[in-house]
Amino acid sequence: MTGFDTDQVHAGAEPEGAYGSRITPIYLSAGFVFDDFDHAEARFAGTDPGYVYSRNSNPSFVAVEERLAALEGGIGAILVASGQAALSSGLLGVLKAGDHLLSGPSIYEGTRSLFRQNFARFGIEVEFVENPLDLENWRRKIRPNTRLLFAETIPNPKNDLVDLEALADLAHEHGLPFAVDNTLATPYLLRPIDFGADIVLYSASKLLTGHGASLGGVIIDAGRFDWGAPGSPFDHLTTSANGRGAPSYVEKYGAAAQLEFTREVVVSRLGPTPSPFNAFLLQQGLETLSLRLRQHVANALTLATWLESRPEVESVDYSGLESSPYRELSRKYLPRGAGSVFAFTLRGGVDAARHVVDSVDLFSRMTHIGDVRSLILHPATTTHRALAQEERDRAGIRDGLLRLSVGTEDVADLIADLEQAFDSLGAADASARVAAGAHS
Ligand SMILES: *Cc1c(COP(=O)(O)O)cnc(C)c1O
Repeated sequence: MTGFDTDQVHAGAEPEGAYGSRITPIYLSAGFVFDDFDHAEARFAGTDPGYVYSRNSNPSFVAVEERLAALEGGIGAILVASGQAALSSGLLGVLKAGDHLLSGPSIYEGTRSLFRQNFARFGIEVEFVENPLDLENWRRKIRPNTRLLFAETIPNPKNDLVDLEALADLAHEHGLPFAVDNTLATPYLLRPIDFGADIVLYSASKLLTGHGASLGGVIIDAGRFDWGAPGSPFDHLTTSANGRGAPSYVEKYGAAAQLEFTREVVVSRLGPTPSPFNAFLLQQGLETLSLRLRQHVANALTLATWLESRPEVESVDYSGLESSPYRELSRKYLPRGAGSVFAFTLRGGVDAARHVVDSVDLFSRMTHIGDVRSLILHPATTTHRALAQEERDRAGIRDGLLRLSVGTEDVADLIADLEQAFDSLGAADASARVAAGAHS
């Protein structure tokens, strides 16, 4: 078995046949030619494994899918157009109207809205577990129609980690699969399948590409969940696939039943197809994943430690810090580094946050994360503005909280950028006091 650094460069890539191109070409073609009448029939019957139409699959996608499955330790992957497409399609491959999904409380706001607005309209009920480190809170909420447990491996921006292995065990105890969004860890920092996850979902728009030039999403299956177990409630996988005597997905694909149902029935019908060009950009990004991540996590730890030492800063939410209440979980699940997206809270509240956001020069003001460039955002007025104040309080999104996505620049330059913003913060405070004094 080869190592991670080798696999991220080589897995899924073969020199191309016609001209010997070393890099997987960008197969920008909607469809693929059939040699003759019988060939077309064989392609549709699946007895000839070649390509038909790019909404179903494309060689540019497969090269990336094989690489990601190898890095993640899964049996296969499906590339889709965005992270939201991976969340929606990946979970709709399991869930149907009348089902109940149990989710950790700290999740990406786009996913929370998907659950609350879209899944609700499909008749899928989603419940959020409070205090997710207390397993009893999960156990108590599991119902006869619960079909899936879901959590994020590194929740953003608070880094409030969950105990993945315990959740996987609890799900399996109840005959349920466990799905995770591993966007902020990537398989370099954490392979959730090693801790029992059954489905791993990604926004590939973030750290997997790193360059911030394209969107993408990935659904990866561990191939370990027994979808056809006696009494299985997943009848879309255990009953005839067309109702006319065709084999079920479990009969046809075994351990890959869920993945292939998601590919054939959900993704190719709902149509969240990526561009082959974006697949190529993702493949390029993956080749440097571990190299980038090593710099990301080193920079993030240095910056978090520096922030913690500053008088302007009330708290830093980074699970790599010894002061973090999640440090033990971080040691277990993220031994290579605690990620590169975290929050800190300024004592000066929203005014201080506004000043720092407007004063930085090297950090980009963006709602993106996982880029090689460092980014800054004020969640309370942007990503989390739709939450009721009470929900925002519960999530710890305070008025002085800023989120950083730490890039791969020289960390001294990142510190210098924040330092000049903090230093002028004092000056801004002083002049505000003078102005206030002048008016009183
Ligand atoms: C960005 C993100 C998503 C959504 O991904 P897109 O590619 O923007 O659609 C989902 N989950 C997490 C954790 C994310 O950071």
